[in-house]
Amino acid sequence: MSFKNKVVIITGASSGIGAAAAKMFSDEGARVVMVGRNETKLAAVAKRLSSPLVIRADVANDDDARRIINETVKKFGQIDVLVNNAGMTMEHGGLLGNDIMQAYDTIMSINLRAVVHLTSLAAPHLIKTKGNVVNVSSIAAVIPPASQRSASYYISKAALNHFTVCAAVELGSHGVRVNTLSPGPVNTDFFENAKSTLTFEAVRPLTLLNRVSEPEEMADVILYLASDRARGVTGSNYVNDNGMIIKRG
Ligand code: NDP
Repeated sequence: MSFKNKVVIITGASSGIGAAAAKMFSDEGARVVMVGRNETKLAAVAKRLSSPLVIRADVANDDDARRIINETVKKFGQIDVLVNNAGMTMEHGGLLGNDIMQAYDTIMSINLRAVVHLTSLAAPHLIKTKGNVVNVSSIAAVIPPASQRSASYYISKAALNHFTVCAAVELGSHGVRVNTLSPGPVNTDFFENAKSTLTFEAVRPLTLLNRVSEPEEMADVILYLASDRARGVTGSNYVNDNGMIIKRG
């Protein structure tokens, strides 16, 4: 799975799954573009990579999104892979609360709108390289919510799965593949960053295998989907969830 000289953009590379993928792509010879907002965390991950391009940017900001693509092309002249991994959730008062639309707008703008925007901006460059896109979704797209206060996150990931199919249809004739990875629980700062009351320890028994994955297990799948080994795979949703969908189902 060599990515020698391939240019790979990873959003949300400052933490968790994105950081693990950035390291793995770099180890496989890719020229990695790391995107995130937290400068300190980006720098800590970048230290472990071979000469990454670090772009401090908010994927939900349209000017920042354009800057991510422009700076990448300016520095490396091409884009081979876009990993739309940046994502978040926040608890809110639910349908009976008064903050649902604020939470909805924030979550949808990062988890969905930014993915659509970045994919659209990267598409002309991906067509030139016959590249591909990997969207990091979640099994939240297909299971009932764990909390009554996180509908927007579940909606955003369900829509993201279908966006993958739409983008695969649109870009397939140009030789560009688009796929989704749907993780189950993965040991990252996700709940902590969400200021959630949930913990991975509490979620673990909800899986068939009674385990929580490590970020590198997700990075493995991301690299597979982005590689030539998956040259026949597009519009697919790869689930890596310790059997959580089956157990919850
Ligand atoms: P983390 O909270 O550890 O990482 C999230 C990353 O997204 C951070 O690097 C953060 O960077 C970045 N990010 C969030 N918002 C923005 C933004 N507006 N602009 C740029 N970067 C942003 O969580 P994970 O690694 O677990 O999450 C990665 C993906 O995996 C998400 O899409 C999540 O929904 C998905 N997922 C995670 C699961 C889990 O159990 N951990 C389960 C299923 C799916 P920064 O703070 O620097 O901006």
